[in-house]
Amino acid sequence: MFSHIDAKYAYEGNDLGATYTKEKTMFKLWAPEAEAVSIHLYRTCKEEKPYRNLPMKKGKNGVWSKEVFGDLDGVYYTYMVTNDGLEQETIDIYAKTAGANGAMGMVLDFQKCNPAGWENQGYVPLEHYTDACIYEMHIRDFSIDPSGHFCYKGRFLAFIEKGLVNDAGDSVGIDHLKELGVTHVHLMPAFDYATVDETQVHKPQFNWGYDPQNYNVPEGSYSTDPFDGKSRVAEFKRMVYALHREGIGVIMDVVYNHTYATADSCFTKTYPCYYYRQWDNKLNLYANGSGCGNELATERAMVRKYIIDSLVHWMTEYKIDGFRFDLMGLYDNETINEAYRVLHEINPNVIMYGEGWTGGDTPLEWEKRCMKLNARFTPNVAYFSDDFRDTVKGNNFENKQKGYVNGACGSEDFVREIMSGRIPHPQLPNLTKYSWADHPTQTVNYVEAHDNLTLWDKLYYTNPTASVETRIKMDKLAAAMVFLSQGIPFIQAGQEFLRSKPFPGGMVFDHNSYKSPDAINSLKWNRKSEFRSVFEYYQGLIAFRKAHSALRMYDNSQVAENLWYLDNLPQHVVGFILKNDNLFEEMIVFINPNEYSVKLHAFGEYGVYIDSNCAGVRPMRTVTGDYDLDPLSVIVLGREREEYLENSHVTD
Ligand code: CA
Repeated sequence: MFSHIDAKYAYEGNDLGATYTKEKTMFKLWAPEAEAVSIHLYRTCKEEKPYRNLPMKKGKNGVWSKEVFGDLDGVYYTYMVTNDGLEQETIDIYAKTAGANGAMGMVLDFQKCNPAGWENQGYVPLEHYTDACIYEMHIRDFSIDPSGHFCYKGRFLAFIEKGLVNDAGDSVGIDHLKELGVTHVHLMPAFDYATVDETQVHKPQFNWGYDPQNYNVPEGSYSTDPFDGKSRVAEFKRMVYALHREGIGVIMDVVYNHTYATADSCFTKTYPCYYYRQWDNKLNLYANGSGCGNELATERAMVRKYIIDSLVHWMTEYKIDGFRFDLMGLYDNETINEAYRVLHEINPNVIMYGEGWTGGDTPLEWEKRCMKLNARFTPNVAYFSDDFRDTVKGNNFENKQKGYVNGACGSEDFVREIMSGRIPHPQLPNLTKYSWADHPTQTVNYVEAHDNLTLWDKLYYTNPTASVETRIKMDKLAAAMVFLSQGIPFIQAGQEFLRSKPFPGGMVFDHNSYKSPDAINSLKWNRKSEFRSVFEYYQGLIAFRKAHSALRMYDNSQVAENLWYLDNLPQHVVGFILKNDNLFEEMIVFINPNEYSVKLHAFGEYGVYIDSNCAGVRPMRTVTGDYDLDPLSVIVLGREREEYLENSHVTD
């Protein structure tokens, strides 16, 4: 379907949308089957009547164009598009900023929106994906709670606020991110989404934002003035700039798999049916693999081009360092591979990863889907390891089902498999069939994300009678597994201080808070002080991982040669040796999911860098001979290079 349109009309120019100069603005719209198109110009986004109505002319490849002389910086515009005799007003699908609620595009001089020093600032370095420590966050959650004392609550500009502390004096906001040590912040939808009314931002409203309206426009409710299209652009840039200045990369969560509206979307109004996938080649039979009413037909030439143009826009205009793709199983792998090729050319440090599944059935052929089981077809893209998540803490959708750290032992082979990054490992031949990743750079390891229960809430459901101290041990153990595994570690904001999403008044927790109030969703900064030792543990794990290359291998042969699982360990304990570290001759990791301590034996003297209480880059003590591994904990031993002695590490 539409292949004849692609063959005849596919357009390769990079000038769709409004191309601004001081002297004139060129408007171009691809709409090969439209009968007529004109531009409406407005002085503000509140006006009902345009001050000018300019017909456009259809040219080659079905591209309508119109050159308008004069300085149009700050002028709002829409297109009047006639399809099948019906004229409808729509925002430009290529609009780069918009007025309130994204109904009108705006012509903008982007140069004027740059913070001082912007031109000299580049992308955050990232040699291999496995060098990243990713922190997923919702922009409003970050700063809306009173405990953070932000001036710009819920706004992009909260990221520029330094020197803030919570009620107990611990740092919050961007200082906290720096203190924690994460390399990249992953922002949940920051493009213009539909379900928060931007004209009513003084009223509390919340949505995660997986309801796209305008893909190339920053979300207005995070700006200080949604009615001024410049405000959201300038403030978004200041946010990125502030993070980059701390050495923190910015990853955008992008949702090109579906749009909020279908019949009324800017895509439908521009070119009915083209942008969406259908079943059985029937125009009116929209596929719904997103579970949200539609899915974009990424495989069509001009949809693919649109997605790649949009990614390039965010990367070049806003210096975005990477992208997380929602429901990536709805993208065809050719689009994703081409996107990587183009983005990598612009920024060799780019990182791309996504959800390797769909939200429902889709007409897209199985082998074309960007799913984790097809990961070999997209070698430069990583996938969330839901296997890691569920093995460590129990099934995500069964509240009470336990995993390795919270009482369900017996899955040790799977634990070994996830710890080596979901790649085939020579010691685990029976599990090779489950190893969907080619390299550890393709695996995102996590135990908590915005979806479903937080780890802390899940541990309450699985172990309601366990003490808080015991559940903290389980939490720290799960976090240690994330940061000691091969792959890309990922945590949710606030996980480092036991984020919780309780409903009011009880021990019942929100597993899908996509539109729940701030009271449930916001980061409660005082918890950082309440659970200070947990925060410090996460901080130590991150610092240790960043210091040691053996935890960040990027090739499957490196892992096969240098990560060796140990036999003859106490029941349920998993242990492995890492051989190719930059600082250690040898690193040994033991994981004890038992609620009792176990005896181990060290052949020679080792420094202890991580145990049940602390984690860090300096040894807390040494062990030699027999020693205890605490209940529900890991121990990480290291021997620095010059002290290396040839030994085996079999325990009794
Ligand atoms: Ca919006």
